[in-house]
Amino acid sequence: MTTVIFKKESNYDVSKLYDDFAKMLKIGNFYDRIEKGYKILLKPNLLSARTPDSAVTTNPAVIEAFARILLELGATPIIADSPGGAIRGTHRVLENTGMLEIARKLGIKAVSLESYGATEKKLPDGENLHISKIIDEVDGIINVAKLKTHSLVEMTLAVKNLYGLVPGFRKAEYHKIYPSPQRFAKLIVELYSAIEHKLIFSIIDGIIGMDGNGPSSGRVRKFELLALSDNAPALDFEIEKMAPLKSHSPIVKELLKRDLVPQHDVKWLGEKIEHFENFKVPSNWYFYLAPAFLTKILGKLVRVAPDVEDEKCIHCGDCMNSCPVGAISMEIGKTPPRFDYKKCIRCLCCHEICPTKAIVFKKSFLAKFIK
Ligand code: SF4
Ligand code: SF4
Repeated sequence: MTTVIFKKESNYDVSKLYDDFAKMLKIGNFYDRIEKGYKILLKPNLLSARTPDSAVTTNPAVIEAFARILLELGATPIIADSPGGAIRGTHRVLENTGMLEIARKLGIKAVSLESYGATEKKLPDGENLHISKIIDEVDGIINVAKLKTHSLVEMTLAVKNLYGLVPGFRKAEYHKIYPSPQRFAKLIVELYSAIEHKLIFSIIDGIIGMDGNGPSSGRVRKFELLALSDNAPALDFEIEKMAPLKSHSPIVKELLKRDLVPQHDVKWLGEKIEHFENFKVPSNWYFYLAPAFLTKILGKLVRVAPDVEDEKCIHCGDCMNSCPVGAISMEIGKTPPRFDYKKCIRCLCCHEICPTKAIVFKKSFLAKFIK
């Protein structure tokens, strides 16, 4: 039996969130899933060194509230993630996102997953999937995702949040190997299947999230939703229904294809949540709706490519460092990026990582007509 629990929540008050989680664990009959002495990975979304008000990363109050519960149950939480794209300044990511402050306050560890090394799993196509060794060291994972849209795979929710378990530059490398939304979704689902046995709960921080051109340059907006489940695909499936999307995202489609979304034996508890009003999908939505072969044929006609708004650029170089194919050149600290469109594979990693929303989409003539 799978359980999905929703709770309306409008602010990030730690003691309120603590009560919310305590109620959710109680009504889900979940308390016995965490045993005394367990070492638990608390896995937020720490995409980049943005502050909590930007809604790019999991809010620290959500992490703190759940960490307090774990400590009271006699477990040892470790807050850890591997930031996206460029891995420069992981300490800055932990500091700016508020994770180090929680760690100091509660006397627990907040670390970058790069420090653990990686194990390898063979994928069906022969590629190696690198997964942080922390998986072998902990008794379980509490996966705490942010509710956001995503310009490559439409939504980033619980299953996509696990991509942070791939350490360092391998994340960008996989974009080169699996450039289309459909192929990238397959990789994410392989990753989910490899670590699913360690997942205790998945949580969605949708109190304030993002729609439009997420995961970092979209519109910050209130969804007033906190959700928890013992099954990540079921949680994502339900939240996408609330969005609502034109069709399910590539990741949920892939999960459905592999029969990984429980359709029966699902219990919905907590509060009823209405559809999110005026939900904006990323402006390149047709990219992941079209079958891969059509994207190939129409590629040039409906192309969306990255471009930069020079006046917003702070010349940090994160985009250049995150590009998996070396399609960006610039002088760090001096000039904005310039793109080599012959090399660019449209993975949008640069858009995802830019701290100032300076990377925008440049649309081809036909793409401008698709709203
Ligand atoms: S320039 Fe192209 S290939 Fe490089 S990160 Fe941006 S979208 Fe990806
Ligand atoms: S475009 Fe964004 S990521 Fe790239 S250098 Fe400018 S501010 Fe940094």
